[in-house]
Amino acid sequence: MLTKYPTISALRNAYLSGNYTPIQAVADAFAIIDEKDKEIQAFLELYREEAKHEAVLATERLKKEGDNAPALLGVPIAIKNNILIKGKKTTASSKMLENYVATYDATIIERLREAGAIFIGATNMDEFAMGSSTENSAFMTTKNPYDTKRVPGGSSGGSAASVAMGAVTASIGTDTGGSIRQPASYCGLVGLKPTYGAVSRNGLIAMGSSLDQAGPLTRSVLDAEIIHCVMAGLDPKDATTIAPDTYPDVPVKQSYTIGVPRSFFEQGIDTSVMKVFDEQLEKLAKAGHKIEDIELPLFEQGLAAYYIVMPAEVSSNLARFDGMRYGLSEDGDTLREVYGKTRATGFGAEVKRRILLGAYVLSSGYYDAYYRKAEAVRSMMRKELTDMFQKVDLVLTPSAPTPAFVVGEFSDPLSVYKQDIFTVPVNLTGVPAISVPADHVEVEGKALPVGMQFIAPHQGESRLFDIGIRAHDKIQGL
Ligand code: GLN
Repeated sequence: MLTKYPTISALRNAYLSGNYTPIQAVADAFAIIDEKDKEIQAFLELYREEAKHEAVLATERLKKEGDNAPALLGVPIAIKNNILIKGKKTTASSKMLENYVATYDATIIERLREAGAIFIGATNMDEFAMGSSTENSAFMTTKNPYDTKRVPGGSSGGSAASVAMGAVTASIGTDTGGSIRQPASYCGLVGLKPTYGAVSRNGLIAMGSSLDQAGPLTRSVLDAEIIHCVMAGLDPKDATTIAPDTYPDVPVKQSYTIGVPRSFFEQGIDTSVMKVFDEQLEKLAKAGHKIEDIELPLFEQGLAAYYIVMPAEVSSNLARFDGMRYGLSEDGDTLREVYGKTRATGFGAEVKRRILLGAYVLSSGYYDAYYRKAEAVRSMMRKELTDMFQKVDLVLTPSAPTPAFVVGEFSDPLSVYKQDIFTVPVNLTGVPAISVPADHVEVEGKALPVGMQFIAPHQGESRLFDIGIRAHDKIQGL
């Protein structure tokens, strides 16, 4: 069974030793989906025929190439449905793009394909990646495999649930303010938000262009590293990408100084999450790392700045959905009516809320008062963090203030926005961060996973992988 080989390396070893084949893996993936996905609802679409065909080719190729086969050959992977796969529906879980078929592959899709990955299907998400629970999908609400009363997190909730339910070895998500790390935390997975510019955004449906990055959701930190290395790198189609060989030296160390911004945790964090976090700090100290209390006062303004910068970018990016160029088009007597009807029907409530907010903060009367101020806070946050990384090697926070919440628990958007309190400062400053499973907390008789978030200096992914492997993979025997 696929679940016997939880990681890419375990799967590959099984393939190479002849104990298991990509043909079996793909058959098992669909068997698990057929058994569980009626309830979990992680997948919007399955690529059964293509995946089976790829599996046959991968099985033959593995026989021929053995250890020289590319890194992801025959590995079943699920893809968030805001990443373009040529010839496939890419809906961003919106009615606006319900029937939109991608005309090209995203750069990361090309790279994953070249590395041999097998795409199993497209995963559900919050509409246009706006949300923290996957309840904002226009099509369905994905459930958390640890407790199906609860959300898997979001916006990459379908991607997280697809791995947590055992259907795939890994999945790809996107993270604008926490959408990889927060669902990873809720679903007991590893989730990486790379340095801004490390991974090409070509072929991603944009949410906030200065914040978006794609990254892996996996069961081990090593798997996240393997997938990240396949996807990352310079891309002529995305001028913001950075060449890996220009990376500054962020060396790995035997022992790290880990900064903990404790005063930041006073804002509504669950006591059970805090307890797990403190236990992890003790373990890290025992493993020889130095734990230091630090202050990052501007980080505490992150959420406020994010909910100005992000909607501003959303309102610009989503202006392209006008009934003319992509997707849904409603009839009208005038151009204005076509725009109005299309956007009124095509977008859900949360998307509309953010477009309105964004248009407001960018309007000439309020630009200086809101948008310019938020961008100023953002550059001060960057400086605060750069200065802090002169003193500490890593910053550690919980990934989210609570474990997974119950579907429908929050009716006001602000309570949901607060789930991102620890993750949004990372996107605003452009640095990389990884959510690693810390432990479980008991809630109503269910063991719910809780993650911790390591934040590294700009382009310090290797340091995240190093600490993550030591603090998670080695301990879990992965
Ligand atoms: N939950 C955050 C939001 O709603 C982050 C979303 C994301 O990272 N795509 O904006």
